[in-house]
Amino acid sequence: MTVVTEDFISPRVQNLQPYQPGEQPKVDGLVKLNTNENPYPPSARVVERIAEVAATSLKLYPDPESDQLCDTIAAYYGVTREQVFVGNGSDEVLAHAFCAFFQHDNAKLLIPDVTYSFYSVYCRLFGIEPELVPVSESLRIDLSAFTAAANTNEPIAGIVVSNPNAPTGESLSLDAIEYLLSLHPTRVVLVDEAYVDFGGQSAMSLVQQYPNLLIVQTLSKSRALAGLRVGLAIGQPALIRALNQVKNSFNSFPLGCLAQQGAIAAFEDRAYFEQTCLAVMVTRVVLADGLKQLGFEVLPSSANFLFVRHPQHSAVMLAARLREARILVRHFKQERVAQYLRISIGTDQQVNYLLKVLEHVLNALEA
Ligand code: PMP
Repeated sequence: MTVVTEDFISPRVQNLQPYQPGEQPKVDGLVKLNTNENPYPPSARVVERIAEVAATSLKLYPDPESDQLCDTIAAYYGVTREQVFVGNGSDEVLAHAFCAFFQHDNAKLLIPDVTYSFYSVYCRLFGIEPELVPVSESLRIDLSAFTAAANTNEPIAGIVVSNPNAPTGESLSLDAIEYLLSLHPTRVVLVDEAYVDFGGQSAMSLVQQYPNLLIVQTLSKSRALAGLRVGLAIGQPALIRALNQVKNSFNSFPLGCLAQQGAIAAFEDRAYFEQTCLAVMVTRVVLADGLKQLGFEVLPSSANFLFVRHPQHSAVMLAARLREARILVRHFKQERVAQYLRISIGTDQQVNYLLKVLEHVLNALEA
């Protein structure tokens, strides 16, 4: 009998098209503006706490429930311990949420057609059919398109939006979130607030009122801890219990003791968090103004990145020219956004270097 090795692999896995994260370069000295990391280091208190824990606690398994961290988060946001879930980065939290809430028979999950592309990947992983709700011409989330999608006779599995949206940076108002929550009260609306600390409006104040609201956040961006892998979800206890059912059917110990204690220290240092978020927002204005002066169209952004296009020059070519100057930015192939570049907000120095290089590139192209 001949064995076809493909037969070893589950059919759904054979057909997966995984998410492609932005490049993490193996060489030093690049100006890295491609994955929305924080340009500033994490709080010194985080690094101190991790060193202390590393010296004493590594031989034991960590607390499987991350109780101390969940208590810290609950106190920070003014919710109860039963309303908090944590995971190994918000990508893992999202995966558990897709598994827990959106696998309903023949039902479609509403997501904007321009948004974080991992959502469609999770749909494929869990066999969920996405309904891609078109954003407007100016790439804004279109509530009337959501209404139309929700009012067909087809069953709905839930709604996922990123607020601010990625990769556009657009911020939705709380009214808009409430509107989405009311569209389908018996299905979960997941609001991914990965970038909310850079000027967006969090839906945290709606959690007590809406049993179908699940908020997901991350420490990767505004708390400069992408390398530690900590994400969280907040919602009413029934939703959190469902997330724990999935988590405890998958991995009892998603957060190591370094991650748990480092994350606690990050929440304790509120002053540093506020100072660095503000610095990013100030630099965002410098970058937006500089890019507009160079002829770019810049979408309004409440995130730590800008989504921009130049009416005369191809985004692929500009990204390549920047790469030659050792600057990484992100380009997405998806047709509707293929003319755009997503540029993470760096330090003032990085942003000024980027603007200088772009000026040089554009002058050379236009000469
Ligand atoms: N949501 C959005 C919208 C993101 O852009 C990202 C970062 N790629 C994440 C979630 C995941 O972040 P992390 O897993 O680092 O928490």
